[in-house]
Amino acid sequence: VEDKRKRVLILMTDTGGGHRASAEALKAAFELDYGDEYQVTITDLWLDHTPWPFNQLPKSYSFLVKHNNLWRATFHVSAPRFVHQPHFAFTSIFIARKVMQGLLKHRPDIIVSVHPLMQHVPIRLLKARGLLRKIPFTTVITDLSTCHPTWFHKLVARCYCPAKEVAERALRAGLKPSQIRVFGLPIRPSFCRTVRPKNELRAELGMDYSLPAVLLMGGGEGMGPVEATAKALGESLIDEETGRPKGQLVVICGRNKKLIKRLEAMEWSIPVQIKGFQTNMEEWMAACDCVITKAGPGTIAEAMIRGLPLLLNDYIAGQEVGNVPYVVNNGAGKFSKDPKEIANIVADWFGPKSDELREMAFNALKLARPNAVFKIVHDLDELVRQRESVGDTAFAFSS
Ligand code: UDP
Repeated sequence: VEDKRKRVLILMTDTGGGHRASAEALKAAFELDYGDEYQVTITDLWLDHTPWPFNQLPKSYSFLVKHNNLWRATFHVSAPRFVHQPHFAFTSIFIARKVMQGLLKHRPDIIVSVHPLMQHVPIRLLKARGLLRKIPFTTVITDLSTCHPTWFHKLVARCYCPAKEVAERALRAGLKPSQIRVFGLPIRPSFCRTVRPKNELRAELGMDYSLPAVLLMGGGEGMGPVEATAKALGESLIDEETGRPKGQLVVICGRNKKLIKRLEAMEWSIPVQIKGFQTNMEEWMAACDCVITKAGPGTIAEAMIRGLPLLLNDYIAGQEVGNVPYVVNNGAGKFSKDPKEIANIVADWFGPKSDELREMAFNALKLARPNAVFKIVHDLDELVRQRESVGDTAFAFSS
């Protein structure tokens, strides 16, 4: 039987948790709103469809990003068009056949890229074969403000920007207003559901019922000064007079197994939960009162949906720098690289400065865009329908 489902191909690569998280959020929203009408495939174009050394990109990202200066250099050196343009042209010669096979194997009706390095080569190849009109190519940007110029390509059918600041960059990069939509960062649909009562969640998650809770994390990889901050919180959240805890701590280490081990070996005087990669972040966030994290866009957008003030303690050089003023200038949180200072702010929020915590929670909620993922998916559906009205496309794959 011929499969009548329309096909969406999402291109990503595992450089940080954010890109995968956005890809999965889009897939989930398609399933919820369109059921069997669409089949959504997520592919790691570099890993699955390119030969060595190109398939080493995700690995070298993990390496570079952990060595901050190297990553900063890579990010800035590759930023100007005259640098990355010839690079992509050169790259596409080598990987063209494989990438094209990788793309067409899925027979997509539309392609969605959620990665800054997934525009140039695929668009170049599709254009060369005259397929761009038949298979609209779209980009969903997953950085909140200072995004790398390789995100922008003038030949996209749509460029979905998470915030106004990004849309302005897209315009400066030469995209037309008709190509740009500003719906917000796509966050998995489970974040849109109504929240269960805090008590119920805390019971399930093994947390203390009454103490205010701080969630400490560092993206999918557990990056940033998590250990030092946990230690400082262990001290600042003890009431000096009574010796009792005035708060509790949840540390989510993501895929950083060494971090879990080190934290588990420590002694604690406050209630602590130490966890590896969690799939129910919406529940952990709903059970807590504020978040400490590096400036990852995914975590920031999720915290805003949950109305949690943010303490940013680090950022990945380049793409995450602009997320800091985005949070701080909007009154949704604070920034400090000093673990002690961060720990003291939390102690104040859980004590004399509870008004500030409330006000920042309110400001965070004002920036929340829980429905962005559905708006993007509806617009993608619209693009597929417009394309269908243009004519039959089956022949596109005959060669
Ligand atoms: N995340 C998760 N489970 C974990 C740790 C992180 O689901 O144990 C998710 C988190 O909710 C967010 C994403 O991973 O959606 C991290 O994205 P972010 O942009 O904050 O940082 P990145 O990991 O991409 O650098």
